[in-house]
Amino acid sequence: SEKLLEVQNLKTYFTMHGYTVRAVDGVDFHVNRGETLGIVGESGCGKSQTSMSIMRLVPDPPGKIVDGKVLFRGQNLLQLREQEMRQIRGNDISMIFQEPMTSLNPVYTIGYQISEVLMLHRDMGKKEALAESARLLAEVGISDPAARVHEYPFQLSGGLRQRVMIAMAMACEPALMIADEPTTALDVTIQAQILRLMRRLKHERDTAIMFITHDLAVIANFSERVMVMYAGVVVETTTVQNIFKRAMHPYTQGLLGSVPVLGESKFHADGTRRLLQTIPGTLPDPKRPPSGCRFADRCPRAMPKCFQNEPALMYRENGHQVRCFLYGDEIRSTGESDE
Ligand code: SF4
Ligand code: MG
Repeated sequence: SEKLLEVQNLKTYFTMHGYTVRAVDGVDFHVNRGETLGIVGESGCGKSQTSMSIMRLVPDPPGKIVDGKVLFRGQNLLQLREQEMRQIRGNDISMIFQEPMTSLNPVYTIGYQISEVLMLHRDMGKKEALAESARLLAEVGISDPAARVHEYPFQLSGGLRQRVMIAMAMACEPALMIADEPTTALDVTIQAQILRLMRRLKHERDTAIMFITHDLAVIANFSERVMVMYAGVVVETTTVQNIFKRAMHPYTQGLLGSVPVLGESKFHADGTRRLLQTIPGTLPDPKRPPSGCRFADRCPRAMPKCFQNEPALMYRENGHQVRCFLYGDEIRSTGESDE
């Protein structure tokens, strides 16, 4: 299959109060045309900053993309002028965030905002764009779309706003959609509906999706491949079947192995899903990443050598990539791509 997006040795650092935080610290992965890649990891592991870097939306300062390549259809997005990048953002890659209220403009109607995208990127006239906006709202399952186009974001529920965001993201018919925890803030019923909707759009439009979440269960039925991030690096990438049947990295095994304590609900009182995993310990201090494996402090299988050197991300079997000394001795070389 053809690579649509290829990220090589991406490094995005933040400098604040004299400290440098290596939020993304040498990340390598690709997304194939029409494929869904799930990106999993705890909050703070660098998954959001990876997508912000791809979109070149990292606030600079304090953030800076210090190294790497983001190849989209073979073109390095990091070398484009801002104006060219805006074209890519509107036409080719779109992004859906967790809280749609921050990405929708409160002072314009829903129809106006979707129409803007259509007029700008699909060269439509005002009337045609408004009609197409209503059609898109219907497509994302919003009833009475002809009336809804005249409503403002605050008049809609969280679930409806998220659908509007998806309609807006689909309006430019992107080849790649980056969805960053798009359902986390929603209750489980709405969450399931949104996931069904995205799956349908993906099949109908052949849109590739990067789906970012802290919840492995969400992507179980949704992604073709899964990438697991920990402390700014990729620790494992494989097919969704492999992740659930034979996860290799101890961190991934920890994510999968922990189930809710008996009698405890899988959901919070407000209906959001609880984190399933409870791996003892916390992410390492990003200001001072350890010299060895970044998971060593929490790893039940850590060996003395794990505290000395950082393992390289290596292909093992069936395209299964893993960064762990349990499967080989290769050490990560600094300053270059692992592949
Ligand atoms: Fe655990 Fe060592 Fe593998 Fe790191 S390299 S995950 S510490 S076994
Ligand atoms: Mg995030």
